[in-house]
Amino acid sequence: MRLSILQRCSCVFIVALFISFSVIAQDSLVTVTAEKGDGILSLLRKQGMNPYEAYDDFIAMNIDDLRDSVHLYEGRNYRIPQVQVDSVIVLDSIQEQSTKIKKIEGKEFSIFGKKHSTVLSKSEKLKGAVYYLVSGHGGPDPGAMAIYAGKSIAEDEYAYDITLRLAKELLAHSATVYIIIRDPNDGIRDERILDIDHDEVTYPDEIIPLNQTARLKQRVAAINKLYKTHRGKYQRLIVTHVDSRSKGQNIDVFFYHHEKSKNGKRLAESIHKTFQKKYKKYQPNRTYSGTFEDRTSLYLVKKTHPAMTFIEIGNIRNKKDQRRILDPDNRQALAKWIGEGVLLDYEKK
Ligand SMILES: [Zn+2]
Repeated sequence: MRLSILQRCSCVFIVALFISFSVIAQDSLVTVTAEKGDGILSLLRKQGMNPYEAYDDFIAMNIDDLRDSVHLYEGRNYRIPQVQVDSVIVLDSIQEQSTKIKKIEGKEFSIFGKKHSTVLSKSEKLKGAVYYLVSGHGGPDPGAMAIYAGKSIAEDEYAYDITLRLAKELLAHSATVYIIIRDPNDGIRDERILDIDHDEVTYPDEIIPLNQTARLKQRVAAINKLYKTHRGKYQRLIVTHVDSRSKGQNIDVFFYHHEKSKNGKRLAESIHKTFQKKYKKYQPNRTYSGTFEDRTSLYLVKKTHPAMTFIEIGNIRNKKDQRRILDPDNRQALAKWIGEGVLLDYEKK
């Protein structure tokens, strides 16, 4: 199309090209030095930006200066992207030689909270795919608990925050996403200490029972009911916990699947591979120690119909893991990597 524009009206095209080049050149001059404790989110926030809108562009522009592709080095300079999410200038028609502002529409999802409710489309790569996301525990069951800086922290709140971030990522790539364990008033939270509450419900709005078997049965029933309505489609279940079962092991992230499920295995492997790649690429001396294995004993793995992967993101009781899990920047990074693994798996289907 551009070629034909060039042929028909080269002078207008050259002017348009010149304008867009000068905008890009200006952007690249904006750099900021990372200070102690800065993450991508806090760095962008200090620039008065919505850090989530600029997150992917920032990574693409600064990839050579990021550890594990998401972490900043203190004292280094980083380029700040200019985000054009509200409007883009499009050439309306060559004949009129006019420009027109076209609004890019975001979709609203109140479950992500006021600040995070808008999902901007990134691609249609996951169109047709259906995902069920379950964060471990919830309702009357907080999961593993620990004390941090004198405050109680609970596994279910952190698993939920990572799950919401993952849901947003998958929605941006046009997937159908069901958040099975849901909290109507929490949303994505950018704090280190996530307050504990007990008002999570099971999709669509069922009160979570106290009894463990009843609790698991309830979420299995919700998933299997939805599964039926999407029969024939690519459907996957991702369960996230923040309490590693493998005690005494210094493990970053575990991935499990049902031994008999080829699709569950492939999803686990795709996410695992993405994590390995992220760690290896920018820090070759560090070995990624996460692994996946069969866990047929898990009730959810056995009873749910979609192929599933079970992810354990460290352990909230472990001091070293706490640093990672409490940092919202890291929760975003984890969600992004899981999302990339999910995309990889869908491409291979
Ligand atoms: Zn758990």
